[in-house]
Amino acid sequence: MEQEQGTSGAIPVTVIPGDGIGPEVVGATRRLIDEAGVRMAWDEQPAGASVFRRGIASGVPQETLESIARTGVVLKGPLETPVGYGEKSANVTLRKLFETYGNIRPVREIPGVRTPYSGRQVDLVVVRENVEDLYAGIEHMQTPTVAQCLKLISRKGCEKIVRLAFEVARAEGRRKVHCATKSNIMKLTEGLLKQTFEAIAPEYPDIEAHHIIVDNCAHQLVKAPEQFDVIVTTNMNGDILSDLTSALVGGLGFAPSANIGHAVAMFEAVHGSAPKYAGRDVINPTAMILSGVMLLRHLGLFEAAALIEQALLVTLEDGRFLTRDVVGDARSVGTTAFTNAILDNFGRTPARAAVRRHQPLNLAAVTTTAGTGQAPAPARTVVGVDVFCESEQPAEVVGRTLEERIGGLPFTLKMISNRGTKVYPPNGAMTDMVDHWRCRFVLTEPATPLDAALVHRLLERVEGAFPWMHVEKLHTFDGHPGFTRSQGEDAAW
Ligand code: NAP
Repeated sequence: MEQEQGTSGAIPVTVIPGDGIGPEVVGATRRLIDEAGVRMAWDEQPAGASVFRRGIASGVPQETLESIARTGVVLKGPLETPVGYGEKSANVTLRKLFETYGNIRPVREIPGVRTPYSGRQVDLVVVRENVEDLYAGIEHMQTPTVAQCLKLISRKGCEKIVRLAFEVARAEGRRKVHCATKSNIMKLTEGLLKQTFEAIAPEYPDIEAHHIIVDNCAHQLVKAPEQFDVIVTTNMNGDILSDLTSALVGGLGFAPSANIGHAVAMFEAVHGSAPKYAGRDVINPTAMILSGVMLLRHLGLFEAAALIEQALLVTLEDGRFLTRDVVGDARSVGTTAFTNAILDNFGRTPARAAVRRHQPLNLAAVTTTAGTGQAPAPARTVVGVDVFCESEQPAEVVGRTLEERIGGLPFTLKMISNRGTKVYPPNGAMTDMVDHWRCRFVLTEPATPLDAALVHRLLERVEGAFPWMHVEKLHTFDGHPGFTRSQGEDAAW
């Protein structure tokens, strides 16, 4: 087969064999790509368990980072974080360091693999935001018994993921994109994805755009998965939904993924290192092989991608050479024999499972500067502050104490909430209190400048009674509150 990229040299690709079954599934995939006639300059690099054990806390050594920065394309096996080493996952580190903001997880009905959904023609892609949300990993113990994780969602992050979803739909000839959010509850964070989706959708008039609440999306995926084409969603929602969708087509052995960034793209199976199967030549390499197929399409090598995908589908359809996860121990063949069968089927086309036609994926230009890109900048006013403080006293004592202490300052204690429910002034709520209080102070005269000196004076008064752990300014942007009300609160401020 001729190389389709139009250059005579081999294509540099970083390959990370990874841990457990990683070397076996990555090895099978490399072999098929090499045999498909594509000349890759594989640059093999370590990451994961062996690297943590060398004392490198990130699990990814400098030489691996340099290789990825140089090649921009990675075929990656699963990585483990051994117990007792490293606080952060090496996988998440790689995704974040190279800003691979989009995680594309396609699933389709696999011929020869019986599931409760067989015959329903499941064929969909989850496009998951990959670096923001609760997975930004910004966590703090607020009190000895109350933990907090910040859910950070940016307009820029939403724009990138929404455009990626529509572009995936176009590149694969798909007709619908569903945006799945929990915007009914998290109006500002999840709501930002919904708003951005609604703003960008008209740029893609050829594609139907629908919003769906994420819990209903999970329900619909189990009930009628064939109604979906592309689903775009936030990081944690996408993590959960995409494991669900992989189960619709036969499980983790069949779920490939691509981590897409503006400079780096990383291709890996959704599954982990399945350590109990490591080195036993029994594991199903399909998910990794399909990830390799996605890598080839990313490089514009559509013919080689189709050659491998078709041979894989022919092998699965044929049913004589399948791994133990599909047919059980008695009738199964090993990873190597399955890969040999795929090689033998090069050039054949499956009878039942057509391979989708793919166009190049048009990735939007991305800035790496900190700007909002919003023009003109909205008019901003600070109308008060939320002070989070700790106390084991009842709500009424906390409230009355604070009201006494702020005497003479230009603030009113508008309310106190406990885990988001208003508990002061008392309103009959049956809230089970914890020692973590959000105390909302609003300016009595909105024109008063709420500068750092005034915040300091307020904090000194609060601290005199209760330890505080953090402060949030209450902004309005163009007159719209940039903060939510608590459950049971009337007006925002
Ligand atoms: P896992 O490695 O995905 O394995 C869970 C189970 O899924 C296996 O025991 C096996 O099920 C099945 N399975 C997974 N891959 C398969 C394949 N290719 N063929 C057939 N069956 C397959 O999940 P885990 O045991 O939770 O995680 C193990 C390690 O991997 C952990 O250290 C975890 O942190 C890491 N991990 C890494 C990544 C990544 O690098 N992206 C992702 C997930 C997990 P049966 O037991 O039923 O046969």
